[in-house]
Amino acid sequence: MLIELAIGDAYGAGFEYVKPEIITKYNNLEYRQHPTHKGTKPGMYTDDTQMSLAIAELMVEELEWTKLNVANKFVEVFKRDVREGYASGFYHFLTKMNNGEMFLENIKPYSDKSGAAMRAPVLGIYKDRKEVLEKTEIQASVTHDTKDGINAAKASAMIVHFFLWESGKKKDLAKYLKDHVKGDWASRWTGKVRSKGWMSVRAAITAIQEADSMSDLLTKCVAYTGDVDTVAAIALAGGSVCKELRNDLPGWLYSGMEDGEFGRTYIESLDKELKAFYLQGKQDLPL
Ligand SMILES: [Mg+2]
Repeated sequence: MLIELAIGDAYGAGFEYVKPEIITKYNNLEYRQHPTHKGTKPGMYTDDTQMSLAIAELMVEELEWTKLNVANKFVEVFKRDVREGYASGFYHFLTKMNNGEMFLENIKPYSDKSGAAMRAPVLGIYKDRKEVLEKTEIQASVTHDTKDGINAAKASAMIVHFFLWESGKKKDLAKYLKDHVKGDWASRWTGKVRSKGWMSVRAAITAIQEADSMSDLLTKCVAYTGDVDTVAAIALAGGSVCKELRNDLPGWLYSGMEDGEFGRTYIESLDKELKAFYLQGKQDLPL
């Protein structure tokens, strides 16, 4: 799931807010250099993946789920592997933070943008729906302590939960989300995706419901234009655990993923740990 999230992020990063003509011409499943974000090379992931790694590590390490532990982890994953791709204000904030305590003292956590939702999909792995929602809210409130910021994160996590734990069918996804998270998750998304969290999540829901394979899903996410790396990260994480979506992502999107210390090999090993973590919960299912 994390590797597909990273592929969505890295592929989408080449097209984030670019002119629609560029997308029409090059949305062909090959990593692409963004015309102005020169620090993010083709196959490199951005903040969506780095923050999802933070959440996934917290889960498998089974650390107590507190705002301080979450903030410590955000600082840790950023400092060990500084990269562009964050919103510039948050990037500069992170460069100045030494630890989670300092982070919590200085953050103004009132954003309703997509930061809390882009890192939430992995939380859907918890078996208990209440636990998904509670832990998602805590991690969201560290930076996005607003109704819209938190609800977007909850919906993002619940996409994964629906497919993993409720044997969900794509056609029922929006209704399920509407039943469990406040917000209009059922209206079909069309057009450019701007920066609010709910926009990326709703666009991802529409794309999942209308796609017939993972490649189709990825190109649909990018075709929206706008904040497409976040849409694709959320959608591909959800799509990767949806049985109705065949994984036909070309091998080069996997092999072309950056593979430094925290690149592909690391992400795939963390995916294995997440799977074991998921199966632990599964054993308790009444048969
Ligand atoms: Mg990003």
